[in-house]
Amino acid sequence: MQVRRVCVSEESYERELKLEMSSEVYDCIVIGAGIQGSCTAYQLAKNKQKTLLLEQFVLPHSRGSSHGQTRVIRKTYEEDFYVQMMHESYELWAQLEREAGVELYRRTGLLVMGPENGEGFSRLKATMQRHKIPTVFLEKQEFSQHIPNVNLADGNGALIDTFAGVLYADRALRAVQRLFQSCGGVIKDGEKVIDIRPGAEVTVTTDSGVYRGRSLVITAGPWANTLLRHTGLQLPLKVVKINVCYWKEEIPGTYSVGQSFPCFIEMEPKEGEYDIYGLPSNEYPGLMKVCYHMGSETEPDERDKQTDRGDIDILVRFVTRCLPGLVPVPAVVESCMYTVTPDHNFVLDSHPTYGNIIIGAGFSGHGFKFGPIIGKLLSQLAMGQVPSHDLSPFRIQRFQSHARSSL
Ligand SMILES: Cc1cc2nc3c(=O)[nH]c(=O)nc-3n(C[C@H](O)[C@H](O)[C@H](O)COP(=O)(O)OP(=O)(O)OC[C@H]3O[C@@H](n4cnc5c(N)ncnc54)[C@H](O)[C@@H]3O)c2cc1C
Repeated sequence: MQVRRVCVSEESYERELKLEMSSEVYDCIVIGAGIQGSCTAYQLAKNKQKTLLLEQFVLPHSRGSSHGQTRVIRKTYEEDFYVQMMHESYELWAQLEREAGVELYRRTGLLVMGPENGEGFSRLKATMQRHKIPTVFLEKQEFSQHIPNVNLADGNGALIDTFAGVLYADRALRAVQRLFQSCGGVIKDGEKVIDIRPGAEVTVTTDSGVYRGRSLVITAGPWANTLLRHTGLQLPLKVVKINVCYWKEEIPGTYSVGQSFPCFIEMEPKEGEYDIYGLPSNEYPGLMKVCYHMGSETEPDERDKQTDRGDIDILVRFVTRCLPGLVPVPAVVESCMYTVTPDHNFVLDSHPTYGNIIIGAGFSGHGFKFGPIIGKLLSQLAMGQVPSHDLSPFRIQRFQSHARSSL
């Protein structure tokens, strides 16, 4: 005979049943297997924490922010706190390469061009010098000798961060997830989290199971606010679609990694415009990746309905002016998303109401290179430890007038 409790709905009865079935309590549950969640889960498992990593899509997937073959790694930042974090991040990437036995970083250097007397470029130069980051400052007259096939705009200065390079992104994500599993970590992909119940033990419900954890890390990329709604919090995050453009070299190899062409950033190409960046041709032979560092707003599940190409128009003008060896029409356009905060700095913090819920969000299109150090910092927060870097620039409190309780 089937015993059925009365006065509970079908749904909550099933939830209780699933919960009863799983008596297991994890030390930590991490939601989102992008680079930040995967690195966090790995750090936790390495620290002997029983860890579950939940991902809504079957892995690997190309619907968040961490897919694609390459990302830029650099120390070129205006802010001291990012430079300090990058010192350690480089070390942790090298450690990951050793642990995984795969190449994840290729040194290419990074050319930065920007208004010589502009505030941003001057601050960048000063920070590079203050931190003694190996940098070559290029004089205008020697520019074309060092960097052929690039036109430096009038009034622009140029420098090269010599240790910057390319991270092999897809490969890195796979490597971190494999290392996590080899430490006993559990990945459940194709399981979308549909509810979170805060408490001393956090209860996380997916579309096929219910799990409990002593702490929870939310690293859900563009879906951060969708999940945070279950905890009564909304952050001022804007999700934008990025058109990832590849441009054909007129003469194959002109801008290739094999010819030692560097990555580049052009700061503020025009007043009011965002940076433009590029990576040498590598993943698709004969095609160089050149993108605009901003896009048009979208809902994360509706990414492909956003068809604005204003960014591509800006890129066409830039390529025509600055990179004469490229055909000024994108040959391939792929899609990705940024989750942007008002100040473009990350959110790395505990939930303001529930101390055992940790949030990593708002990586604003520049978070990949920090993956291993962010993983370490979020895992320290989840384990109740004092984080090893100053997290004050990343606190939720800075949005006091924006962040709101949705309960
Ligand atoms: C085109 C492009 C170029 C970039 N270039 C650079 C660069 O050169 N250098 C650099 O440092 N950074 C770069 N970035 C930024 C960097 O890639 C991102 O900051 C980083 O990947 C963000 O990772 P994430 O883990 O926060 O998000 P994501 O990778 O989006 O991961 C979040 C995960 O959470 C999962 N999830 C969401 N909701 C749920 C749910 N309900 N249940 C279960 N799972 C869920 C999602 O499916 C997703 O897999 C670039 C980004 C883009 C888009």
